[in-house]
Amino acid sequence: MSTRDGKDWKPATKLVRGGTMRSQFGETSEALFLTSGYAYDSAEQAAARMAGEEEGFVYSRYANPTVRMLEDRLTMLEGSETCRVTASGMGAISTTMIAPVGQGDRVVAASALFGSCRVICQTILPRYGVETEFVQGSDLDAWKKALSKPAKLVLIESPSNPLLEAVDIAAVAELAHAAGAKLVVDNVFATPILQKPLELGADISVYSATKHMDGQGRVLAGAICGPSDWIEEYIDPWIRHTGPAPSPFNAWVVLKGLETLDLRVRQASRNAARLADAIAGHANVKAVRYPGRTDHPHYTIHAKQMSEGGTLVAFSVKGGRPEAFRVLNAMKLVDISNNLGDTKSLACHPASTTHRALNEEERASMGLDESWIRISVGLEDAGDLEADILAALDAM
Ligand SMILES: *Cc1c(COP(=O)(O)O)cnc(C)c1O
Repeated sequence: MSTRDGKDWKPATKLVRGGTMRSQFGETSEALFLTSGYAYDSAEQAAARMAGEEEGFVYSRYANPTVRMLEDRLTMLEGSETCRVTASGMGAISTTMIAPVGQGDRVVAASALFGSCRVICQTILPRYGVETEFVQGSDLDAWKKALSKPAKLVLIESPSNPLLEAVDIAAVAELAHAAGAKLVVDNVFATPILQKPLELGADISVYSATKHMDGQGRVLAGAICGPSDWIEEYIDPWIRHTGPAPSPFNAWVVLKGLETLDLRVRQASRNAARLADAIAGHANVKAVRYPGRTDHPHYTIHAKQMSEGGTLVAFSVKGGRPEAFRVLNAMKLVDISNNLGDTKSLACHPASTTHRALNEEERASMGLDESWIRISVGLEDAGDLEADILAALDAM
């Protein structure tokens, strides 16, 4: 039986209890149904299940009990009508952006997007006759202009990677709806703990569950949260027939990861706020970008949308690539990695890694030069992290 009640529970309770289905053995921990198929009591039952006349599982590309528990838990957490889980974050976002559109449709997207999301909008969609217009995310007049024509989907990310810029979700939602579009928010950086896109007016939120939801750097997974009719019309047929279904094992890992999501995100966010302040005070630092600091150019919008500053900090060192590399190489505790949302603190140089595919002009238009470092703050002791990063800045 599914724990469908509990809509009024606080997030921490939903994360521990939501969606749990107990088998006949009464296990306390969620069971891992590592099965691709299901057996039927009779040929008649098989026919009824396949025809959709009887509830039940038929094949794990369609649905699986462990995956269902994760989907139900995320539905409760996000406050959406329903949710589908996929094999990766990009599995979720590509499905969301490709399944509902067809030749002649228009997509409008913020220009600061996760690299692969940009490739989908810029390179893949046009091959199928879908045009994407990019908009500077914080420029409301540009959104107004781009959405004065009909569109099918709008895709934004807030805070964005790597400079943690804000898009006003409520304002863009209103413009998107007037243009007949559904607003999709990639909410990975904010996490469902610190920002609720659907409450702000967005229609669909998408996640890389690889990041904070697993949170311990083990598996890839993704999620699409949104209205039931839209998901049943567009997303279900796509998942069933093209196959981005997750492994039940990976879904189970994320399900167990969610139990500590609230605790982990809040602690990492506290660590990040302290580190951002410490870094800002160092003589070798030119600028710090942290959504929770009042000197962030988009602080007012972040403060309206996010309950805390989040787990990511970006900073720019005095100098360029050699100085940034020296700082990264001098860190002893923080690992150099392009991943994020892990218990382990991870730092990267966006211009040469995550954003290397952009040309210099494109990077300049984002304000991203070679002096920037991005840190995904984890759960090590905040004092140890501060000492490591300040020593690395000293060594620059
Ligand atoms: C990681 C990430 C993705 C892609 O997720 P995968 O699980 O790696 O496929 C999409 N958007 C953002 C903001 C991300 O950080």
